[in-house]
Amino acid sequence: MKILFATSEALPLIKTGGLADVSGSLPPALQQHGHDVRLVLPAYRAALAACTDLQAVASLELTGSTAPVRVLEGRLPGTQVGLYLIDSPRHFDRPGGPYSSTDGRDWPDNPERFALFARAVCALALDQANTAWRPDLVHCNDWQSGLVPALLSLQPQRPATVFTIHNLAYQGLFSWETFQRLELPYDLWSLHALEYHGQMSFIKGGLAFADRLTTVSPTYAQEICTPEFGYGLEGLLNYRAAVLTGILNGVDYSVWDPATDALIARHYSATDLAGKADNKAALQRHFGLPEDRNVPLIGMVGRLVEQKGIDLVVAVLARLMRNAVQLVVLGSGQPQYEQALRGAADHYAGLGVVIGYDETAAHLIEAGADLFLMPSRFEPCGLNQLYSLRYGTLPVVRRTGGLADTVVDAGSSGRGAAQATGFVFDQASPEALHTCLRRALAHYGSADAWTRMIKRAMRQDFSWQRSAEQYLALYRDAIEQNA
Ligand code: ADP
Repeated sequence: MKILFATSEALPLIKTGGLADVSGSLPPALQQHGHDVRLVLPAYRAALAACTDLQAVASLELTGSTAPVRVLEGRLPGTQVGLYLIDSPRHFDRPGGPYSSTDGRDWPDNPERFALFARAVCALALDQANTAWRPDLVHCNDWQSGLVPALLSLQPQRPATVFTIHNLAYQGLFSWETFQRLELPYDLWSLHALEYHGQMSFIKGGLAFADRLTTVSPTYAQEICTPEFGYGLEGLLNYRAAVLTGILNGVDYSVWDPATDALIARHYSATDLAGKADNKAALQRHFGLPEDRNVPLIGMVGRLVEQKGIDLVVAVLARLMRNAVQLVVLGSGQPQYEQALRGAADHYAGLGVVIGYDETAAHLIEAGADLFLMPSRFEPCGLNQLYSLRYGTLPVVRRTGGLADTVVDAGSSGRGAAQATGFVFDQASPEALHTCLRRALAHYGSADAWTRMIKRAMRQDFSWQRSAEQYLALYRDAIEQNA
């Protein structure tokens, strides 16, 4: 199969979250099965800087750009996967992130930027870019590539389309005036297309028009069909339920494995756990905490936003820190939580906080902590709990989305105890989180059972292999049906 994978971020080019991990590792996994997979991204400044082998292969005249848009071809660094970068300097060559400036504000021209990107992807998909390559299928991801299935649906001869929801909370909502300014076909302005309560929704382009819909865990696939998680799109998602599936994200174990991880203090594995204590000491030093191998150390990495339950963590801090326990938090996000955490770190000797993005510290937390905290309100898949399992850092998670699908609670009955890999709670409340943490800390005292659970967690296999096979089966179906 020839697959064009359209995404707005991919490691190692540019990353804001889990989408970059997926885009950087699913295409190579598909390629290993013998398929011709090529990635397409905007030519952000960071992406241009990360690639050394780019060649201009086409020049496109696109609505939305007065200058010709170049298509640059190369390889995703560190892989053999083909890469196209859509080069429109006015839209993409600027400092800051893929969606926002360095001060965190969304770029005001995001609709223009991602409409242009979608038009360029369509040109590639229809072999209008002189690449002499026509994909059988285009796999789009999140709202930034949502217009692609919508625009392709207007073409008589088009490749099959798949749209993956990595997070339904981000929809790309803009005004009717913006819709007009983008010169999109008026046929797309309808409740069955891009219109959403009087606004234009980029994500609806994917949800309404793609041949197949996926999201990144089976539980999240069910949750988004309900009002609680569906943001008013649950009606459309229920209507399309027959083509909607959940496929768990995999882990790139060449990056996230304590036996080989270059960013941690000392390697260890399920058969030789000795090095984990050295990582714990290194982590305590890194965060300025008292070095103590016996005190339970809880880690947290992620966006400091309510989705991740950071407000619940802040609410239980005073109670939690009364116990003999240490907590390290790495992340950035909503200013009030950043401030609350910074303030609390001055107050509690056992609390270490780093506000910012730090890949090395994230690896050290996975390796050095005893427990990993993810009390998310919703979690499409979640990657950190999967990393935590591999690092023997037992996850404490809320039963939602991918967290529910990947962590088995130590208190479970039935398959429970014998398969437990972490601690799971139900209600998104400080009380429920606190009770669960107390339960986890009580288990920490029983050394043998704890070590058994660590080893069991480390043996879990969430590699891309199985997920890649599921995507390939889905692609085959979509292509067959589109033929
Ligand atoms: P989401 O995509 O919702 O942010 P995921 O758990 O799916 O959450 O993926 C988050 C990814 O970003 C993980 O690889 C995580 O390690 C990483 N990450 C998040 N915040 C930070 C941070 N402050 N420093 C380093 N890595 C981070």
